[in-house]
Amino acid sequence: MPKKINLLPEDISQSIAAGEVIERPASVVKELIENSIDANSSEIIVELKSGGQELIRVIDDGEGIYPEDVPLALKRYATSKIRRLEDLYSIKTLGFRGEALPSIAAVSRMIIITRVKDSIIGTKVICEGGEIKSISEVGCPVGTEVLVKDLFYNIPVKRKFLKSTQSELRNILNQFLRLSLSFPSISFKLIHDGKMVYEYPKTESLLVRIEAIMGKDIYSHLKRVEYKNEDIELSGFISLPVISKSTSDWIYLYVNNRFIKDRIIYRAINEVYRHRIGPGKYPIVILFLNLPPSKIDVNVHPTKTEVKFKDSEKVFNSIFSAIEMTLEEELNKSTSDYEIKVWKEDSCFDFNEKPYEIKEPVRGYQSVEDGEIFQREITLERAHRFHPLCQIKGTYILCEGEGELIFIDQHAAHERIIFEKLKKDYNESLVKKEKLLIPVQIELSTEESFILENIKDTILDIGFEIEQIGDRLYSICSIPSFIKLTEVKKILREIIDDLIHFDIKNKGKEIINNILTTISCHSAIRANSILRKEEIEELLKMLSTLGRDSTCPHGRPIFFSFPIEELDKEFKRK
Ligand code: ADP
Ligand code: MG
Repeated sequence: MPKKINLLPEDISQSIAAGEVIERPASVVKELIENSIDANSSEIIVELKSGGQELIRVIDDGEGIYPEDVPLALKRYATSKIRRLEDLYSIKTLGFRGEALPSIAAVSRMIIITRVKDSIIGTKVICEGGEIKSISEVGCPVGTEVLVKDLFYNIPVKRKFLKSTQSELRNILNQFLRLSLSFPSISFKLIHDGKMVYEYPKTESLLVRIEAIMGKDIYSHLKRVEYKNEDIELSGFISLPVISKSTSDWIYLYVNNRFIKDRIIYRAINEVYRHRIGPGKYPIVILFLNLPPSKIDVNVHPTKTEVKFKDSEKVFNSIFSAIEMTLEEELNKSTSDYEIKVWKEDSCFDFNEKPYEIKEPVRGYQSVEDGEIFQREITLERAHRFHPLCQIKGTYILCEGEGELIFIDQHAAHERIIFEKLKKDYNESLVKKEKLLIPVQIELSTEESFILENIKDTILDIGFEIEQIGDRLYSICSIPSFIKLTEVKKILREIIDDLIHFDIKNKGKEIINNILTTISCHSAIRANSILRKEEIEELLKMLSTLGRDSTCPHGRPIFFSFPIEELDKEFKRK
C-alpha cells in the first residue's frame, strides 16, 4: 500500500482535466458551436438560460452522429477528425482532440439527441457527471442537439467562481460573435432567457455578416485588405482612422479560419495605427490569415486560441505591410479636406477672432526666499492668479505663477472642469435636457444595443431619452443640453463602448463616472485649438475652483510646473 500518494479515482481526474478546456459557460458554447461547424451545419441555434449557468442548448442541422458512435463521442480522445499523427499537421477542422464532449459531460448534466441522414431514427443519450445514464432511440430531425444543464453542479468551487449572469453572458456573446464572423455561410441564432439576442441569416458575403454584427455606421468606415505573398494570404477589413475603439475587443484575427489571439499580430497592427489614432485607442480589424497548415502549430494551447507560427517575422511583416499600404492608399486620397473638417467641426471657438498672443512683456522673476522652496507646492486652487504667457501648439497653456512656470494641458483641464460640473448637476438632478425637434436615429450592433438596454435608465437621468424603433434601430429624442447635436451619435456610441468591460449590475457609481467621463471628454476644448486670451483666463478661473484635483477624469495630468530658478541654474546665473 502506498503511504501518501493515491491514484485519483477516474471521476475526479476527469473533472480536473475538464477544467482545462471548460472554464466557464462560454467555453461550452464555443466547443459546441465548433462541433456543429465541423459537422457541416448550415444553421446553428444557441439557447441559454441565466448566462448559460442554468442551461446551454446548441442545435444544428449537421451530419449527426451514428448510434454506434454516440458512446465513443463521450470518451476522451475519441474523435472523427484525425486518425494518424501526421494529421495533426494538416488540420482543417476546428476540433481534433476529442476532448470537448467528455469534458463538458464530466462537469454537467448533459443530453445529446442526434440523427444521421441515412437513419430514420435518432439516438438520445443522458449523461450525468460524465457517466452515461441511458441511451435510447428517439424520433428527431437530422442533426445534433446538445443540452448542457447545471454546469459545474458537481464542482462547487468552480461554480462559486462563476461571475454574474451578465458577465458570463458577455463572454458567451464574444465567443458567438467570433464564430459567426468567420462563417457567414452558416445562419446563427442566439436566444437568452427566451429573448432572441442575435439572428444572422446565412450569406455568401463577409461584408453582409459584418454589417449584421457591427451595424451600418461602422461598416461604412471599413476598408478591404487583400494581400498575398508566397507563404501567406491575407484578407479582411480594417477601420479607417476616423473611427477607433477604446478596447482591443474589435480586433478579430483568424488563422485558417480559427479565431486566435496573437501578440505578434497585435504588435503589427498597433505599429500601423499608433500614430494615426493615438494612445489608448484601437482600430476595428477583421483579418483572415491563410497559411499552409505545415507553417503553423495549432496544438499549443488548451482552448486552441493561440497558434505558433514557424516564421513569425514573416507574419509580422506581411500584416504590417498589408495594413500600412491599405491605409496609405486611402489617406492619400483624403488628407487635405480631412484636416479642415476636424478644425471646423471640433472647435467650439470662433477662429475669426485673433488668437491670444504675448502682448505684455513677461513679468520679472521674483526671487524665492530660501526655505520657501520646501513649502511651495503648486495647486490649482490658485490658478486664477497664474499669469498666462502663451499657448503652445494650440494645445498647452504656459503660465507664470509663484516662482514657477506652469504648463497646462487645455483639454485635460477643461475635461476635469466639465466632469465636476456634470457630476454636481447629476447628483442634484439639475442636468438640463433638450428635446430634439427631429429625433436622431442610430443603428447599433446587436452587442451595443444589448448594453444600451442595460443603461437606458441611467442615461435618462443625464438627459438621453432613447426609444427603440426597430430591431437594432434607436431614436434619440432628447439629449443633455450641453452636448452638440453633431456629436450625439459619437458620444452615445463611445459611452456604450466604454462600458463593454463593465459588469453592469452592481456598479452604479462607476458606470455613471464612466459615462460622465466620456461626455466630458467630448465636450471639452480639443488640443490643436487656438484660444483667445479671455478664454484662457476663463479656463484658469474655473480651474481654481477644482481644489486639488490634478488629473483629468481619465487620470492624465492637467499640469506640471517648472521652477523658474531652474532657468537661473541653466543660464549659470546662480
Ligand atoms: P473533437 O471535436 O475534438 O473531435 P469532441 O469531443 O468535441 O471532439 O467531439 C467528439 C466527436 O463527436 C467529434 O469528433 C464528432 O465526430 C462528434 N460530434 C460532436 N459534436 C457533433 C455534432 N454537433 N455533430 C456531429 N458530430 C459531432
Ligand atoms: Mg470538438
